Amino acid sequence: MIEIGGLQKTTLIDYPGNVACTVFLVGCNFRCPWCYSPEIVLPDLITRQPKIHQRDFFDFLESRKGLLTGVVVCGGEPTIHPEIFDFLAKIKSFGFKVKLDTNGSNPEVLKEILNKNLVQYIAMDVKSILVDQKYKEITGSGIDVNLIKESINLIKSSDIDYEFRTTVVPTFHSVEDIVQIAKSIAPAKKYFIQSFRPEKNIDSRLTSVEPYPEDVMIEIKNKISHLFEVCSVR
Ligand code: SF4
Repeated sequence: MIEIGGLQKTTLIDYPGNVACTVFLVGCNFRCPWCYSPEIVLPDLITRQPKIHQRDFFDFLESRKGLLTGVVVCGGEPTIHPEIFDFLAKIKSFGFKVKLDTNGSNPEVLKEILNKNLVQYIAMDVKSILVDQKYKEITGSGIDVNLIKESINLIKSSDIDYEFRTTVVPTFHSVEDIVQIAKSIAPAKKYFIQSFRPEKNIDSRLTSVEPYPEDVMIEIKNKISHLFEVCSVR
């Protein structure tokens, strides 16, 4: 059963071109050290996190018909839930456009979501250079990097809008790493880089790490922007 760990009732920035809400599904198969949602990722914290009943969430959507145009489904990692297809289909049945945020670890699920035409936008995080051991280390998981590559290709060859993005953490990503990630994704429509937030993370040691200054982020963007139709620092 999908559990909902949070609901942002209105967002103007998370779903391009839409006034949306964002629903946060509990649970994730990765443990990115810089994750800023540990309360819906770590089992110990999940038990303490208040949940929103699905019925209340869908009642909320009913009340927002005509006011919101889109729903962002994020996590955690939405694709780990076997019921994700029904969940997305139900949101779609209310007349909303759906954006899915994913870590790209389940290309088979993404393929089915695309085949069933359940979402209109996918945002996929690329966590590291696409080298198997590195991806496993950084995500604290047993992920096979070929699955990540498969998801990238699947999304790029779909006919829906999409973006890729990377959260940049100086202890895990050199400038050259980001250039390498960008080259692995390219050519593609959109790629965004964003600095991690030191204040709340799965790995509390990151609270003492300084994000790259803005000029370094812009320097990275300038090295890679020719590879994409849209590329910017968020
Ligand atoms: S950043 Fe995303 S993929 Fe990584 S642990 Fe957090 S929710 Fe999971």
